[in-house]
Order: sequence, then structure tokens, then C-alpha cells
Amino acid sequence: MEYKINLPQGEMPKSWYNLAADLASAPLPPLGPDGKPVRPEDLARVFPMNLIEQEVSTQRWIDIPPEVLEILARWRPSPLCRARGLELHLKTPARIYYKNEGLSPAGSHKPNTAVPQAWYNKQAGVQRLCTETGAGQWGSALSFACALLGLKCKVFMVRVSFDQKPFRKLMMQVWGGECVASPSLNTAVGRKVLAEHPDTPGSLGIAISEAVEEAVQDSSGRTRYALGSVLNHVMLHQTIIGLEAKKQLAIAGEAKVDTVIGCAGGGSNFAGLAFPFMADKIHGAQVDIVPVEPTSCPTLTRGRFAYDFGDVAGMTPLLPMHTLGHDFVSNPIHAGGLRYHGMAPLVSQAVREGLCRPKAVPQLKCFASAMLWAQTEGFIPAPETSHAIAAVIDEANRAREEGKEKVILFNFSGHGLMDLAGYDAYLSGKLQDYSMSEDELLRSLGKLEGFPEP
Ligand SMILES: *Cc1c(COP(=O)(O)O)cnc(C)c1O
Repeated sequence: MEYKINLPQGEMPKSWYNLAADLASAPLPPLGPDGKPVRPEDLARVFPMNLIEQEVSTQRWIDIPPEVLEILARWRPSPLCRARGLELHLKTPARIYYKNEGLSPAGSHKPNTAVPQAWYNKQAGVQRLCTETGAGQWGSALSFACALLGLKCKVFMVRVSFDQKPFRKLMMQVWGGECVASPSLNTAVGRKVLAEHPDTPGSLGIAISEAVEEAVQDSSGRTRYALGSVLNHVMLHQTIIGLEAKKQLAIAGEAKVDTVIGCAGGGSNFAGLAFPFMADKIHGAQVDIVPVEPTSCPTLTRGRFAYDFGDVAGMTPLLPMHTLGHDFVSNPIHAGGLRYHGMAPLVSQAVREGLCRPKAVPQLKCFASAMLWAQTEGFIPAPETSHAIAAVIDEANRAREEGKEKVILFNFSGHGLMDLAGYDAYLSGKLQDYSMSEDELLRSLGKLEGFPEP
């Protein structure tokens, strides 16, 4: 039995796959404050033009610059692994494979986009990147990429995580990044929030507003903003995962995949694995594709497809996406990376076109699945990743009940070695399941009244 299928470095994909080229309807444009489509030049102070071009591109294949491949090769291709221990435990006839994205320097899939984003910024003459981070995964990935490319990096980290999760902040500092608690006194948005609520725990929405403000206010003109999920160019960069997986499945002798699964926060690790398989589905292949989200932040399963802001302060353009409303505040579940009110427009559109089947899983079931995974496979998953694992276990059990041999593929988006406090809370019985009431949902969606309809 081959437990892991390694692709030779020379076989790494040389292009990214752009799902926008194959969707039935053209992706809707983001809208500006005047309700009109945002023009590329309107975004030029926030992102460099080369990334804006990728953001709006409908070209099917986009070349990966050789210098980017060179850096990704430090940990890519990631292995495709067989979860034989879990299969035997579940007595399932299904064959379970996973891409292990937890082996990157920052411990998740996020460096797959942090590296090209830093590279394109550098090409455009940018010297410094600003960003936000919740639990710290994205801030550490971008700090790592900036260190390798010689850019400065400033990260606004949500206050409550900054205080409770010192290790990711330290990772950023080791890579030379500057990490400040948000809200901060560095920006007008931060000062305003602090004046009104000195004890605020902060939020991702506030941190995004601060990072954008700091980037566009820099008088040197050489600072830009970077986002770790949601946007089209981020989905694009992550497709290297699914493209590698296809080659590796062929090596493993698997002609067909039945089920593809990924956890979904902003949508990038799911899209990265799934979009190349969606291309097959569009061309007639039968494959069940499942994004998995927490029941406490049910963007795809209960949210509305609408135009909404990406942040609380309304500084971003309006994006056409599944959303719970931009000032939705999720109950504090431990999977910090899945706590975003919106979803990538490309993933949202794929749901609308019937290309995937979203599913929501409660927190306690996710932790129980993560424990079973750790005790049968070894790697301790990030709490985000455990959502995918819970869905994999459901599918594998179903295969046993139906007596069907099936091939299940999922994305192991990251390890959980920096998230042991979440496991501690689970093991000491402090966690509960939480589901949004219909009233809460309607109240939150009410904030979309008067917005343009997609
Ligand atoms: C950030 C993160 C996620 C969620 O983000 P997506 O853009 O939905 O992929 C999932 N897993 C891990 C390990 C993460 O760090």
C-alpha cells in the first residue's frame, strides 16, 4: 500500500486554473459606493495592477511565474496521502485520500497565495504590505512570504486573538513582520473605535478596515493591502492543490473520484482543491463536491446570495456572494478561520450553478472527528480542517452502509499545533454547539436592505 504519493518537483503544475472561464454565467462585477461596477483603476491604491488583472481575468489558464514556483518548491508538491488508519477504523470500503497542506512553513494552505501575492507586489514596485488576521494563520503566512521576498509586512491582529494566541504573533515576528493589536491607535478607524469602546475585543471587520486605511494612506505610494481568501485571485493561486491532486490520483491508479470535500471559511482551500474537479463536472463527470462550514456561521447553507460589503465599516466594494450580513458577529467557535460573514464570489456562483453541495457541521462533532483522526492517522488537524474530516467520516460511513467502494478526496488545510487551547476547551467540556436562530439570521440579513440586487 502506498501511504503517500509524492509528485516530483518537476511535475508541479506550471499554470493556475481559473474557474471563471468555465462557469455558465459570467461572474458579476463588484460594485462601488455609487452602485456602479468598480473599475480596475479604482482599486489601484489598494492592490497592484498585476493582481487586479488576475482578479478580473476570465482566461482559463494563467502561468505561474518561475520565481514563484521556485519558492513554492520548498514544500510543494504537497503529498497526496491515503488515510488507511481511518478507513480500517471505520471498516469502510471507501478509499480516503487527502492533500496535506499542513506541511508548509506556516502550517496551512495560506502560503500558496501569500507567496505569489508578495511576488506580484514586488514586481509592481511595492515595498510594504498591510493585512489583517483573525487567529493569525494569514498574518503568519504573509509575514513568511514577505521575509523571503524582502518586503515589509504589517499585520493588524484582532485584539482578542492577539491577547489569547501569542504564538502566531511570535511566528510573525520571527519572520520579521510587525504585528499590532486591532483596533490600534495607528489608524483613524482604530482611534474612533477605541474612543467609543476602549475595551473592545476587536473584529476581523475592524482589522480589515484598519489595514486598508493604512495601505491607502501611505504617502510614499509603495504600500498595498493583501487579503488571504475570498477574492478571485486567491482562489486562483490555491488551484495548485487540486491540479497536483489530479496528477497524484492518476499515479495512484484512481481513474475516478466520487467525492471532493473541503472546509469553507472564505472559500480558498475548498476552491483550491475543488475547482479543477468542478471543471470536469462542468464537462460531464459525476462527482459530488462538498464545501463544509460551521453551523454557527452558516454562510452557504443559510445565508443569502446578495451584494454585501467584505468588512464591517463598508470600506470594500460590494461583492456578489453568499452572506450573513456584514455586521454578523459569530458566536466564538474555535475554528477562527471559518468565522467570516461572506463567501468567495466564485464559490457562491458555483453553488448557484449546482456544482457543489454545501453542508454545515456543529462544533462538537468536528472536535470528536478531529480526535478520531489524530488517534488513527496521527496529524493533529486545525479546528477548521476538522469540519472537512467530519464530512469525510459521514461519507465513509455511508459507503459502508451502502456497501459501495468509493474514492473520497479532501483537503487537510492545516495542522492544529497552534490551536491546542481549542482542544483544551473541548477536552475539559467547555465547548457547546451553537446554531443561529431564524430571528438572528433575519435581523442580520436585514442590514442588506436597500443594497443592489444581484
Ligand atoms: C484560514 C484557514 C481556513 C479557512 O479559510 P479558507 O479561505 O476558507 O480556506 C481553513 N483551514 C485553515 C487551516 C486555515 O488556516
